[in-house]
Amino acid sequence: MLSRPLVMIPGPVEVEPDVLAAHAAPPRSHLDPAVIAAFGRALGQLRALLGAPDGQPFVLAGSGTLAMDAAAANLVERGDRALVVNTGYFGDRFGAILERYGADVRHVGAPVGGAPAPEEVARAAAAAPPRVVTVTQVDTSTGVRADVRGIAAALAGSGALLVVDGVCSAAGEDLRMQEWGLDVAFTASQKAVGVPPGLALLVARPRAMEAFRARRSPVPSYYADWTNWLPVMEAYEAGRPAYFGTPAVNLVMALDVALAGILREGLDARVARHAALARACRAAVRALGLGQVPLSDAVAAHTMTAPRVPPGVEPAALCARVRDGGAVIAGGLHPAIRNAYVRIGHMGGTTPGELLATLGALESGLAACGHAVEPGAALAAAARALSPA
Ligand code: PMP
Repeated sequence: MLSRPLVMIPGPVEVEPDVLAAHAAPPRSHLDPAVIAAFGRALGQLRALLGAPDGQPFVLAGSGTLAMDAAAANLVERGDRALVVNTGYFGDRFGAILERYGADVRHVGAPVGGAPAPEEVARAAAAAPPRVVTVTQVDTSTGVRADVRGIAAALAGSGALLVVDGVCSAAGEDLRMQEWGLDVAFTASQKAVGVPPGLALLVARPRAMEAFRARRSPVPSYYADWTNWLPVMEAYEAGRPAYFGTPAVNLVMALDVALAGILREGLDARVARHAALARACRAAVRALGLGQVPLSDAVAAHTMTAPRVPPGVEPAALCARVRDGGAVIAGGLHPAIRNAYVRIGHMGGTTPGELLATLGALESGLAACGHAVEPGAALAAAARALSPA
């Protein structure tokens, strides 16, 4: 029996035992041959994860927000126009970061739970050509998945740099930098990659690196400046250590193990597994008579589900009762609907059994909050969705 409830929020997520073991080992020197080897492998595996054989990977100690900060700090100069494809809280955050670095920011959005169509993004970009376009592939505040591939195709030839926030999607959703023509994509260790929190993982493809090299002004963030980190990343990948800031050695060792596991599973198989879990979770939520934040299945994430709570049920109370049943789920985050929904993460190594346990806890939690549910209804719907046709 687990000594603690299952962690089923949209990050941090449950961590596989081999990854935990790497993380728990006594810290080695950042000059240790085993660390150099693991760091080098992790950088190459990150390129493979994001489908960017021509990309420059960066692994930095920090959270996902550092990756957003680094993308903006290195690519934007005062007065540049930026277009944020906004599907929720993390689009707002990207806009704020870009503004902090002096960008003139516009947003192209949709009603809560929706995503703008690629043609709308292309129209907004044509009206005021931006230097940078950002897209949040899955906005964790809404569970909405943007059509990154379609947006990239609609912007092809526009000259804008396309930056994808894959924090709640990479390693769970299809994300192919080179094939789709993305210039920067990033994630963080604690999401579908399945490592404890603490690493920002970013890949910049050649157009982004060229734009960075052609800057007229210094990067206004000292820590995030690629000038400082590029020699470090290049050295570790070449099998040599280099120093700018002490790497998070244990997290890097854990990342190497996690990425190897992801590539062993296979990206297509992993994406299909996430899609199957998401279908099952949505079927269960429907069987409970609950709505969902995404306005259609076509824009619903595969890494998380965002059920609306029934009238009279407080999200905080529901989360507490679900926890009593053995699973931790999250409350709302989007300011406009914060008290109307909860969030269930099913990314990384999540198994069907873990999802079913969570749905069982959701059923009993709803009942404890006074919302009548047919016992087993959600579980049956999920099990049907999970069983091979
Ligand atoms: N972008 C998205 C889509 C996220 O889900 C998150 C974290 N929930 C972030 C950015 C920021 O990451 P962090 O909390 O690790 O700073």
